Amino acid sequence: MKIHDVIVIGAGPAGSAMATHLAQEGYSVLLLEKGVFPRDKVCGDFVSPKGLFYLEKLGCYEEIAQRGYTPIQRVSVHLNGSQLYEGALPRLPSYLPFAHAIPRNELDEILFRRAQKAGAVTIEGCQVLGFHTTPRMVNVEAQEGRRKRRFVGRVIVGADGANSVVARFADLAMNDARYIFPSIRGYCRGLASTEAILFVDEDFFPGFGWIFPVRGDLSNVGVGMVKETLSKHHISVKDFFKKFEIFVKSLAKRTGKAVEIEAPKGWAIKSYGGARQNYFERGLLIGEAACFVDPISGEGIPLALESAELGFETLQMAFDRGDFSVNTLSTYERRWRERWDPDLKVSDLVVSLIRNRYLLKFWIQSFRVMGMTALRDENYALKIGGIMAGLVPNREGFSPDIVLKSLLHGPSFWMEAFNIGKHDTVLDTLRCGVDWFNWELDVFRHLVSDYEWFQAWASEVNEKQSDLYQLLSNIPPRSTQI
Ligand SMILES: Cc1cc2nc3c(=O)[nH]c(=O)nc-3n(C[C@H](O)[C@H](O)[C@H](O)COP(=O)(O)OP(=O)(O)OC[C@H]3O[C@@H](n4cnc5c(N)ncnc54)[C@H](O)[C@@H]3O)c2cc1C
Repeated sequence: MKIHDVIVIGAGPAGSAMATHLAQEGYSVLLLEKGVFPRDKVCGDFVSPKGLFYLEKLGCYEEIAQRGYTPIQRVSVHLNGSQLYEGALPRLPSYLPFAHAIPRNELDEILFRRAQKAGAVTIEGCQVLGFHTTPRMVNVEAQEGRRKRRFVGRVIVGADGANSVVARFADLAMNDARYIFPSIRGYCRGLASTEAILFVDEDFFPGFGWIFPVRGDLSNVGVGMVKETLSKHHISVKDFFKKFEIFVKSLAKRTGKAVEIEAPKGWAIKSYGGARQNYFERGLLIGEAACFVDPISGEGIPLALESAELGFETLQMAFDRGDFSVNTLSTYERRWRERWDPDLKVSDLVVSLIRNRYLLKFWIQSFRVMGMTALRDENYALKIGGIMAGLVPNREGFSPDIVLKSLLHGPSFWMEAFNIGKHDTVLDTLRCGVDWFNWELDVFRHLVSDYEWFQAWASEVNEKQSDLYQLLSNIPPRSTQI
């Protein structure tokens, strides 16, 4: 039986990118995929300029450029059914000045063919059932049609996504409901928009809906929300999609068109907050199998491609040393933490905060204030938009510049933010004050009735923010020039 240098499980973006890197450098790679290309993968399909940068590095962009995807250069944000913000995405010199939404049945096939061209041996329709490690090898068991198969390699890479079998067999699977986001996606015909549209609704917060234009009048539409919140507050992600569908149809109506939304499909996202050890004797996890998804934007494609690169560099070192022990492979975790912790821990902290739905009114108000500030200050808008699109490091969201700009406004701004019009009387203003007072009483009532949860939430937030404070005080601050 042939002994492969590396067996990669899963041919999503992470697995195909890893197989390409390895094959290009002359390693013998076997890439096993349970689907048969072209195959669908439930996703928002949004590939940010950073994602396009990594696709270009792999030599896949030329083909993408020929397929006529809509260049996405603008974004609009809707809060509770009204448009809160509309503006341009930032342009950074090292990236293309637009994003694309690339259906995964197309993107993943392009990446898969790239790996084949680089020399990876591939088997489609081959589902990996498990593996075990011996002192010198890794044995992989799989099912291809009715046939049971066995493969042998020196190293295994789990690139098999959110429900990773490799993570499960390595005893590293993450199942914490705080870091899992059940999501639903459908394709929609009839909206000829060229901007990304984000939809936030307080009934389904913290979560958001998206419309990403693919090409022509085809868009990818969907919603996602934190699993812990869904079960704790008895909210259904299907109901979220239904409400979102009404919004999508209302957008089409404004332009006199009718839309058709296909039956949506669901899948869960595993986010960075749940990322922990993802190396083991003779193996690594990459991409979403390792929970590499930005918790705020839900973007996992750029991180899948980047983690393939980081994992590949670690494997190269391990092959040079002839040592695949956990000690050598732990370099991988050191590298990805150095690169991502300062930003993705910011996203994770933000999601941890807003997971507290008892403080909903406060979060929605803060979101409104940010949207209104963005409308008044272009640089602020570009920074926040850049953070959402993965272009500006997330830590810049906590920079004094952004925090002060969010807070330092004149009285007329605050009156508008709190819905107090010029013609409102003192009584109206008092009514607004009473509303907030009642809300505070409500929060207090919840604090008493759900004390254990509140306490766990507060200590989680406290731990995360002091960890982040330490981390950020040990590295130089960043300020992206836009
Ligand atoms: C609804 C939704 C919307 C999203 N929107 C976006 C977005 O707009 N932009 C973005 O960047 N990210 C988005 N994401 C996240 C993104 O889809 C993932 O992070 C990304 O696909 C991760 O890539 P991957 O290669 O690690 O895993 P995957 O893309 O999940 O690929 C895993 C591969 O492994 C194969 N596989 C699984 N198990 C086995 C097995 N046992 N044997 C063999 N093969 C196996 C699968 O068939 C698949 O091909 C979204 C996710 C969801 C669920």
